[in-house]
Amino acid sequence: MDNKKIPCLDLKGQHQQVKAEIFAQFEKVFENTAFSGGPFVSAFEEDFAKFCGTKYAVAVNNGTSALHLAMLALGIGEGDEVIIPANTFIATPWGPTYAGAIPVFVDCTSDTWEIDASKIEEKITPRTKAIIGVHLYGQPFDVDAVKAICQKHNLFLVEDAAQAHGAKYKGTRVGGFGEMACFSFYPGKNLGACGEGGAITTNNESYYKHLQSLRNHGSTERYYHDEVGYNYRMGGLEGASLKVKLQYLEGWNNRRRAVAHRYLTEITNPKINMQVQPSDTESIFHLFVVTSNEKEAFVKHLTENNVMPAFHYPVPCHLQKAFAHLNYKKGDCINAEYLAENCVSLPMFAELSDEDVSTVIGIVNKF
Ligand SMILES: *Cc1c(COP(=O)(O)O)cnc(C)c1O
Repeated sequence: MDNKKIPCLDLKGQHQQVKAEIFAQFEKVFENTAFSGGPFVSAFEEDFAKFCGTKYAVAVNNGTSALHLAMLALGIGEGDEVIIPANTFIATPWGPTYAGAIPVFVDCTSDTWEIDASKIEEKITPRTKAIIGVHLYGQPFDVDAVKAICQKHNLFLVEDAAQAHGAKYKGTRVGGFGEMACFSFYPGKNLGACGEGGAITTNNESYYKHLQSLRNHGSTERYYHDEVGYNYRMGGLEGASLKVKLQYLEGWNNRRRAVAHRYLTEITNPKINMQVQPSDTESIFHLFVVTSNEKEAFVKHLTENNVMPAFHYPVPCHLQKAFAHLNYKKGDCINAEYLAENCVSLPMFAELSDEDVSTVIGIVNKF
């Protein structure tokens, strides 16, 4: 019996593959001492906008900053409300919170685990300004349904695409469906920097210009500050590493899709539920999350067999202590709560071998 553990995520294989190419670019960043913003970041922005099919991309220091600046560029602030799915990473509600606005949490559906569009309208008040839809685990949310609500109630739509670089909804890549889309290049994301990073994509020139100013101390002309701004610039090394890795992204995403396809078709254990994939979406499978009513026993079974699980995410946003002042209680978002209590992430990354995928499937089916 071999004791090799199969990790949920291992970034080493990916970086072995691209290290030489990235280091060659790092040399150039050093030669130009272009460490903050600069030509290597601009070159990446251009490529990333092209990849997303949007006119513009503004690179920032991380995905949380992207969400913060998207709110500011839309003029969202004190007393405003922003609708968000309850089951997302905490950075989604940080965006409006940093801007002084209030996140309003909506439940997800029981099968796709995406924001439940049929539960949005009951949460809209005269203070509601925007909806942030999250393409969760790499799968696009129901964009048409959410967009229709935005149009009807005159709300902004922002995509949180931090887990969905390259995912498609009705054949179109995410990033251009709303006013803006926010991406993260945290190392573990499908496209991850050698460091931290984020970006906002948009087709609107005035948002684009405003975002450029906001990330750079509120200035368009050096040492003249027209509004309160932030130092949210991306570093040159991060930009250079992302430009190299972006060339590989579609290949890596396709490999994840192949792994996911095997999980979806070969995991046949009735005790395991998987995220339903609507036919008009093409997920990039940032994570492969399953649920089980017997989560504890399932996790024990996996770890005893050297398959290392993770949990995305164990506490839904509306029940986080940081938002206790908003007075949500258990039962407010039952599907998100079920998911939080019973979710288990299976190993998912492009470098997983076919043999390891077979091992995971066999062990899951034996539970
Ligand atoms: C990772 C992530 C973010 C935040 O990105 P950082 O770069 O870590 O700040 C935002 N939203 C979602 C859904 C994420 O998964």
